[in-house]
Amino acid sequence: MPELPGHGPVRPTSPAPPRAEAIVDLDAIRHNVRLLSGAAAASGAGMMAVVKADAYGHGAVPVARAALGAGASWLGVCTLEEALELRAAGITAPVLSWLHVPDEDFAPAVAAGVDLSVSSVRHLAGVLDGARRARLPARLHLKADTGLSRSGVTPAEWPELLDDVAKAVAAGRAEVVAVWSHLALADQPRHPVIDRQLERLTAAWEEARAHGFTPIRHLANSAATMTRPDLHLDLVRPGIAVYGLDPLDRPVAESPLRPAMTFRARVALVKRVPAGEGVSYGHEWTTPRETTLAVVPAGYADGVPRRLNANGRMRVWLAGRSRPVVGRVCMDQIVVDCGDDVVREGEPAVLFGAGDHDGPTAQEWATELGTIHYEIATGVHGARVTRTLLNQDGGR
Ligand SMILES: *Cc1c(COP(=O)(O)O)cnc(C)c1O
Repeated sequence: MPELPGHGPVRPTSPAPPRAEAIVDLDAIRHNVRLLSGAAAASGAGMMAVVKADAYGHGAVPVARAALGAGASWLGVCTLEEALELRAAGITAPVLSWLHVPDEDFAPAVAAGVDLSVSSVRHLAGVLDGARRARLPARLHLKADTGLSRSGVTPAEWPELLDDVAKAVAAGRAEVVAVWSHLALADQPRHPVIDRQLERLTAAWEEARAHGFTPIRHLANSAATMTRPDLHLDLVRPGIAVYGLDPLDRPVAESPLRPAMTFRARVALVKRVPAGEGVSYGHEWTTPRETTLAVVPAGYADGVPRRLNANGRMRVWLAGRSRPVVGRVCMDQIVVDCGDDVVREGEPAVLFGAGDHDGPTAQEWATELGTIHYEIATGVHGARVTRTLLNQDGGR
């Protein structure tokens, strides 16, 4: 056994659990995918699980595999690199990638059989250049801007785009797989803009059919998948609901979805502090009495928003109950007031999770911050948060 000068022997130990971890329950992912793909199937539609942004912070490859095993038949990502990561992992299911700069190198994606969205005539030219170099036809999803004014071909440019696509198809350089669009107000299921977007999509799709193409149509994100079966069309594209975060912001207990991620960190230090001591930067909180403080090693560099600062805005679930975070959120740590309770170093503190026993949730952070849980989940990342996968091999 090695001996360090001045120390005792170094004992081999079983590795301690991670200091900070995002635990992703793949059974929750499967549950949510079964629910969403079941709803889609009831309308005769397929399901694309959206796994962009590293599956909203949950891990693209394991989530993709779990989703495909539970009823999804497509995967959706933003960038070319995200699509190629799935292919590199051996995933052969259809993958759509939709956001690019027109001069990116599309050849590897075409060669890997990745479906590509096009949002302009220039974008199409870039994709076709990749197809030429890959010596394979590009599989195109023509994106119509139906009222989001973000990605997508404007109605004014649509005829020119279809003409260019027709030439490429005739030259064997492209296939038209879909005409598609994205909703601006899906979380307001009765909003008239939704119906206008559907009309515009259908008009664009009919123009494509008039060119002799036979594309499928897709439009619905999570909220529309769960509230508007008439928008399921051929394929639905839920993202946030796959992760169990309710697109309609229903509390966990009232949602049919199961949150998949638990963000937790193990107590690094417990100490007794007298009354009247300032806690954390700026001394925004002072101990009102002698109390036990627990230092939890996760901060804004790990995905705890600094704006959760201040007393009472944030709680953790630690040693069997909910406890307040006191003083400022730091880059690396937060401080929890434990009163006179016994709390041990190494015990896990849940920052947010599935809401069991009324513990904190990502939804709660989002409400507190005036943002959406999408931002909370995708914010948990970085070199210091270990991702732990539960039920990786199937479960049910
Ligand atoms: C992110 C995204 C989705 C998924 O949206 P959710 O609201 O997370 O369900 C679907 N389609 C497109 C184009 C997207 O960018």
